[in-house]
Amino acid sequence: MSVRIPFDTLYAQLPERFYSREAPKPVAAPRLVRLNTPLAEQLGLDPAALASPEGVEILAGNRVAEGSAFIAEAYAGHQFGHFNPQLGDGRAILLGEVVGRDGQRRDLQLKGSGRTPWSRGGDGRAAIGPVLREYIISEAMAALGVPTTRSLAAVTTGESVFRETALPGAVLTRVAASHIRVGTFQYFAARGDLEAVRLLADHVIARHYPEAAAAPSPYLALLEGVIGRQARLIAQWMQIGFIHGVMNTDNCAISGETIDYGPCAFMDHYDPATVYSSIDHAGRYAYGNQPRIAQWNLARLAEALLPLLSDDEDKAMSAAQDALAAYVPQFQGAWLDGMRRKLGLATAGEEDAALVGELLGAMAEGSADFTLTFRFLAEAAADPAGDAALVALFPGYAGWAPRWRARVEAESATPAERAAAMRAVNPAFIPRNHRVEAALAAATEREDFAPFEELLAVLARPFEDQPHFAAYAAPPEPEQRVLQTFCGT
Ligand code: AMP
Ligand code: MG
Ligand code: MG
Repeated sequence: MSVRIPFDTLYAQLPERFYSREAPKPVAAPRLVRLNTPLAEQLGLDPAALASPEGVEILAGNRVAEGSAFIAEAYAGHQFGHFNPQLGDGRAILLGEVVGRDGQRRDLQLKGSGRTPWSRGGDGRAAIGPVLREYIISEAMAALGVPTTRSLAAVTTGESVFRETALPGAVLTRVAASHIRVGTFQYFAARGDLEAVRLLADHVIARHYPEAAAAPSPYLALLEGVIGRQARLIAQWMQIGFIHGVMNTDNCAISGETIDYGPCAFMDHYDPATVYSSIDHAGRYAYGNQPRIAQWNLARLAEALLPLLSDDEDKAMSAAQDALAAYVPQFQGAWLDGMRRKLGLATAGEEDAALVGELLGAMAEGSADFTLTFRFLAEAAADPAGDAALVALFPGYAGWAPRWRARVEAESATPAERAAAMRAVNPAFIPRNHRVEAALAAATEREDFAPFEELLAVLARPFEDQPHFAAYAAPPEPEQRVLQTFCGT
C-alpha cells in the first residue's frame, strides 16, 4: 500500500539558520501501538495506509515519506527561570506541514526519533511511558475542548532506552498548529538577529494571526494576539485542574495550544499549591502559579519582539508594557466567565467573583476533589437532594450552597436546563493520575495496552456519564494516590 502525505511545508522556506535538516534515525522493530483514526481523517490522511507496514515505518522514522522536510527546529528558552540560548529539537523532527480537510495547516512531527545536532547529552529517544502519557493527556485535553497539540500515532521501536533502568522505546507522532514557541523568538533575539525575528514574526502572523497583518502595528497586534490566547488557555487549564508542570518558555506555543506534555497531571483534591513534577522542587509551576508564570513567559516574548514594535525604544517599551498589562484583565475575565458557566450562571453579577472565591476556599479547606465537586454541583442544580453528596465531599459546602442557590434561581433557566449546561462544561472524566500510571505500567511492564485503550475510550467523552465506567470518575484511594510525575525524557 502506498502512503501519500500531501506535505506543504512553509517552515522549510525560512532561512537555513532556523533549523537543521535531519532525517529520523531508524529503529530495530517498529510496531504500531495506536493510530488516531479520526485525527488522521481530519488531516486528510488515509488511516489504513498509515497503519500498513509502510505507514508504520514512516511513523517510526525508518522510511522517508515523499516530500518530507526533515527539520529539527532551533529554539532557546528559559528553563525554570534560567535562560538557555540554545535548546532546539533534541529528539524531535518535523516531517512537514499538511493542510487538513478543515483547511487548517498543521505540523506532523516525530518525537523520540533519534539524535539531532540539538541533542546535547541526550539520546534523542523517548520511552513508552512518556509517549503514552502525552498521547492520553493531549487527547483528553482535546476532548475537554482545550487548545492542544494532538497525538496521531504511537509506535514502539523494539529498542530499549536507558533512563534509571532499561525501558521500551517509542515514537510519538505529534500534530500541532505549529511548533513555534516563545523560545523560538528568544533564540534569534538573543543572537541579535533582528532580521530572523522579523521573518519569524511575519511567518507567525501569516500562519496564526492573519488579522494582525491589517492592524496599524502588526507586530504589536501579534504580541497582543499571543497574550490573549495564552490568557484564555491558562484560564481553561485552571478550570479543569490541569497542571502543565514545565511552563518553560520553550514549552509555550505561540499558536496558543498546550504543548509538551512532560510531568503534567490533573489535580485530584483542590489545593492551589499542588505540584506533581519531580523536578519542580521550588514549586515554580504549581497549579496556582500558572497564570502569573504565563505572564512572565509573555514578558520574555515581548522582550524578543521589542525592536519590531517601534524604532523609538521608549515607545516600544511602553507599547509592550501596555500589552502585558492587558493580560491580567483578560485572564481574569476568561477565568470568571468560565467559572460562572461551571456554577451554572448564564448572566454576570457583581458578587460572582466573591461567590466563586468562597467556593474555592471551602473546597481547599475540605480537600474536596476538584472534578467531582463541579460535576456534583450539576446534579445539585437539577435536584437539591444532590446537596448530600457535596456535603460529604467538603463540609463547607453547606454554608455556601444557599448563596449559590439564591443566585442561580434569580436566573430564568429551569433547573434541568441549568444542570444540562453545567454537565457540558464540568467533566465527569479527567485523566486521573492513578489511572494514567496504571495504564502506563501495564504497557511498560507487560506490553498490555488494554488499560491504555480503555482509558482513551473513556476520556474521549468526558462530559457524558458513562455509568459502565463510573470507576474512572472516582478519585484515588489513599494508597492509589500519585504524588509525583516524572519528566518526559
Ligand atoms: P523538554 O523538557 O521536553 O521540554 O525538553 C527540553 C530540551 O531538551 C529540548 O531541547 C529537548 O529537545 C531536549 N531533550 C529532551 N529529552 C531529550 C532526549 N532524550 N534526547 C535529546 N534531547 C532531549
Ligand atoms: Mg519542550
Ligand atoms: Mg518534553
